Amino acid sequence: MTHSIDAGLQDLGRQRPEWEPWLTVVQEVLRETANDRWEAFVPARGGTSESKAPLLAGVTLALEISTVRRWAEQLIRTAYRSGTPKMATLKSAIQAASDIRTLFKASLCQDSERLKETAVILGADPEAFQAVAAFVPVPFLHACNRRWARSIAESWGEGYCPVCGAWPAFAEVRGIERSRHFRCGRCGGQWQVHCLVCPYCGMTDHKELVSLVPEKGGSTRVIEACKRCLGYVKSFTTLQGSPAAKVILDDLASVDLDVAALEQGYRRPQGPGYSLDVTLADNPA
Ligand SMILES: [Zn+2]
Ligand SMILES: [Zn+2]
Repeated sequence: MTHSIDAGLQDLGRQRPEWEPWLTVVQEVLRETANDRWEAFVPARGGTSESKAPLLAGVTLALEISTVRRWAEQLIRTAYRSGTPKMATLKSAIQAASDIRTLFKASLCQDSERLKETAVILGADPEAFQAVAAFVPVPFLHACNRRWARSIAESWGEGYCPVCGAWPAFAEVRGIERSRHFRCGRCGGQWQVHCLVCPYCGMTDHKELVSLVPEKGGSTRVIEACKRCLGYVKSFTTLQGSPAAKVILDDLASVDLDVAALEQGYRRPQGPGYSLDVTLADNPA
């Protein structure tokens, strides 16, 4: 892991000592995300030529199942040993790794119903299980983003990630030209938008878009909320974009904004922005 990622984790640990168990899991994810073995599983190109479809939509993946299973087991083990009672319930969820295709596909496609069902069957806390399962495809997704970042169409104008179809984790308003970029909390991807727009419903009318500035933190961290769909995006003014591996940390470090948005009656939509519908090919090696 790079120095800035390590430093970011340590900063968060100091500010939020109660997060230590969760930060242990995040650290494991960030370490694996830097592992280039995942590059080998990135498909040659996106599965569809439809202009509104993310690059991963409709692809057939030939993953090395044993690699994915070992990673899922390692992740779940780290989680249940991390020391909170909810996470301890994940000890039984280690079995989910035996049906790794189902787990990987459900996590990749953000199928929260399927993940919830799996958690209930295994006797694990559904919330903790979903939070940890969401990390299973992250190293693969980062590899896709590294490989495909240059293939993202400049004309991409959707609210969801052009690589993996997730809704943005936050927006960055960069540099003196104040260009706006959405960032993806799963693959670390980024896409530029050319005006103030609600990613969820496409609203661009400034009268319908409100900026909520939290009490502390000044005006460089704001909540952009949409009065039509009641969705919100955190927005950070910054000199340059964060490295892909730091998006997860930036998102975590700004949870106070999520809390403030919820208190004002705004929320982020559940589930994916675009349903990926991937196929996992047989590749038992
Ligand atoms: Zn993404
Ligand atoms: Zn909206």
